[in-house]
Amino acid sequence: MRRKRLFRPVVQKPRYRIVAEQIASLIQSGQLPPGSKMLTDRELVEQLGVSRATVREALIALEIQGLVETRYGSGSYVAETLPEYVIEGEALPQFFDLVEARFHVESAIAALAAKSCDAQTTQALRALIARMVDENTPFDQLEEADREFHLTIARSTGNTVLVQMVADLWKLRLRYPVETRRNNMFGPENNRSYYEREHMRIVEALEAGDPQAAERAMQVHCLQFAQQGRLFAVQPRTLTVSRLLEEYETPGD
Ligand SMILES: [Zn+2]
Repeated sequence: MRRKRLFRPVVQKPRYRIVAEQIASLIQSGQLPPGSKMLTDRELVEQLGVSRATVREALIALEIQGLVETRYGSGSYVAETLPEYVIEGEALPQFFDLVEARFHVESAIAALAAKSCDAQTTQALRALIARMVDENTPFDQLEEADREFHLTIARSTGNTVLVQMVADLWKLRLRYPVETRRNNMFGPENNRSYYEREHMRIVEALEAGDPQAAERAMQVHCLQFAQQGRLFAVQPRTLTVSRLLEEYETPGD
């Protein structure tokens, strides 16, 4: 007979989340008032005794929660209007819920884009692929080029709500730095060639004005994103993961 469990497993919180929680409580208590400038990265590093990377990740987390705003070129500020409800780390969607959402939303967008994509757009997409594949492009800029690639396709549909949806999906993706990094750094060939292959197939379908091919190329890309790092192997079998695996095993591509 199994004994009743007495203990809860000890789960270590990532450091960035501990930092984010400290800053969030200062914002919520009003010690850091709405609209005020945040401390600089260096001050935060000094006061919190963590690395700059941890501070950056914490600020991204706070930005996603709507507590902090980054103004380009002038740093981070406490949001003018604080959100009424803050999503806590644990309440975030599972990584694979995000993969499935991208699979459906972004492939529908790719199909739409194939009907109206112009040469200027596909040229911009090709330039972004070149940046991703360039070995000299650092990892964070590679991520940025990838995000811009997907946003450019959404913009080409002329539908602002779809653009916002893609922006939101990519914002959520920032919450999974471990999965994203693991995936991007340890592809099967351990290089960047799959960035070229997968994105190029999408661009070619757009140039051919073929909605079905564009839809399928985007689906494959979103699935591959999950499979490159063999992430399926370490996931519990949720309903979402089962559906994705079924898609993954579907032939005809
Ligand atoms: Zn991509």
